[in-house]
Amino acid sequence: MSGGVWVFVENRDGAISAISREAIGAARVVANDLGQPLTALVFGQNVGGAATAAFDLGADAVLAADDATLAGGRLEALGPLVVKLAQERQPAVILFGASTRGRDLAAWAGADLNTGVVAEAIEIKVDGGTVKATRPVYTGKLLCDTFVKSAPQIITLRSRAFAQAASTGKTGAPEMVSAAVAEDAIPTKIVGFEGKGGKVSLTDASKIVSGGRGVGGPEGFEPLRELAEALGAALGASRATVDAGWIPYEHQVGQTGKTVAPDLYIACGISGAIQHQAGMRSSKVIVAINKDPDAPIFKLARYGIVGDLFKVVPALTEEFKKRLN
Ligand code: FAD
Repeated sequence: MSGGVWVFVENRDGAISAISREAIGAARVVANDLGQPLTALVFGQNVGGAATAAFDLGADAVLAADDATLAGGRLEALGPLVVKLAQERQPAVILFGASTRGRDLAAWAGADLNTGVVAEAIEIKVDGGTVKATRPVYTGKLLCDTFVKSAPQIITLRSRAFAQAASTGKTGAPEMVSAAVAEDAIPTKIVGFEGKGGKVSLTDASKIVSGGRGVGGPEGFEPLRELAEALGAALGASRATVDAGWIPYEHQVGQTGKTVAPDLYIACGISGAIQHQAGMRSSKVIVAINKDPDAPIFKLARYGIVGDLFKVVPALTEEFKKRLN
């Protein structure tokens, strides 16, 4: 049967990633509004648990592929499978979480299916049978409604912009499909995975403490690390500090870094340049600590503290430690 809404489900060890739980939640609403069934694509190895979870989160059907080539999320294995299934079954819409893998896959599928891709939607709604996606443009200064005229309509959904699907108690049996590409036809090989040792991931974090040039040097991040630890937050940074070599790039927030949308973003010694704002302006509550009362970050912040971060941050850490323990 052609039509239907598909959602790509990233999974590992039977668990569905947070961004895919958000994508399933958004896809469920789109499927309801279009009056079409929701199908979850669950690819990987030992995907039984994730397939069961996809039904529980509200999928009407699950297309599952269980194969060693699909473990580890290689694009050259996943992309052709999404494309093959879409060519055979002609879905109306395919949604991906805008993770690194989701973005890559959406682009792959868009190119091979010769259709348009709307990237980084922060809101989606159905309007006359078409899915309209709202996405930020001009580093977040404008919001733009965009839609894809060709089929399938492919849309990636910004992390933490949509509520995660809740458990529905729904059950079902997945339809098993085969991998599209054999191992010897895949040019990349997975040697192993290295864990990051329990650090909070920036893009998944609900709280972020972020430092800018005001920290003065690599050691200036220490009080921020302590505050982050007290709050269970991830550590972010401006590009100025990354370019100076004070902290690795993986911490950079902004136009050329990561886009984040935590519940709480504490900007310490960050002026609030437009390129930094592009990566964090969707944060729910922004707190700025800066010694310059005219710093642009204060225009964005819900709470502002004008002062020296080396005095303010340790005082906050001490207070949070008292209150949160
Ligand atoms: P500054 O602008 O120098 O601000 C430092 C702030 O610290 C000042 O406001 C100062 O008052 C305050 N301060 C100093 N000492 C203290 C103290 N003791 N206590 C409290 N406050 C103090 N930037 C990004 O962040 N992310 C990006 O992804 C990014 N991409 C870019 C892409 C392009 C194409 C370009 C051109 C630029 C990009 N930039 C990006 C750079 C951006 O324009 C700014 O240069 C950068 O964000 C400034 O970083 P900052 O706020 O840490 O430093």
